Amino acid sequence: MLKRPLSLVVILHQDLAEHDRHELFETYFSWLEEEMENISARPMAIVLVRPSEAPDLSSYNYKNSSSSAALAGWAERVDDYLLKRYKDKNIRINRKLNKYLLLTRTDINSDIAGVAQRGGHVGIASITVSNAPAHEVGHMFNATHEDADILYNGWWSETPLNTPDFFTPLRLDAQRFSDNNREIIRQYLEKA
Ligand SMILES: [Zn+2]
Repeated sequence: MLKRPLSLVVILHQDLAEHDRHELFETYFSWLEEEMENISARPMAIVLVRPSEAPDLSSYNYKNSSSSAALAGWAERVDDYLLKRYKDKNIRINRKLNKYLLLTRTDINSDIAGVAQRGGHVGIASITVSNAPAHEVGHMFNATHEDADILYNGWWSETPLNTPDFFTPLRLDAQRFSDNNREIIRQYLEKA
């Protein structure tokens, strides 16, 4: 049986309007698309949407002292948008396979660069932390901090679900999930 594809729609916030879409894709998402395809054995499309293409979404005010409130507001915007767009078209959104990430230029507040619910269909990530987008996308496909890893291949690198510690600045970003998180993601998608 052919497996259904994965999609990640990345809505560029208005504060990224001046950024180059292809450059953002290359920097944060190109390896991730390949990684998710390898893990899931499904095709994956990561699509970056310009702010002007989805003004209702790209204007969302993500600044919030509570990151969970920021996420709840974002979920509401996304669900409204999907409802309006797909109401009469007989298109069904599968929240396990289709994810919606708001990419932002600055952090949600002074402590938090991104937020997502484990296994949820929405997330917010800032480009201020190089692995924040992959970190949140990992959560959306069920990955956890506990299952993150530090890899050694002539030098140390952190898989995206690592939480920062004292040595973090010395390590590279691994462009892959840990073995454990790969397995968790695979299992999450198994029955989808
Ligand atoms: Zn996290």
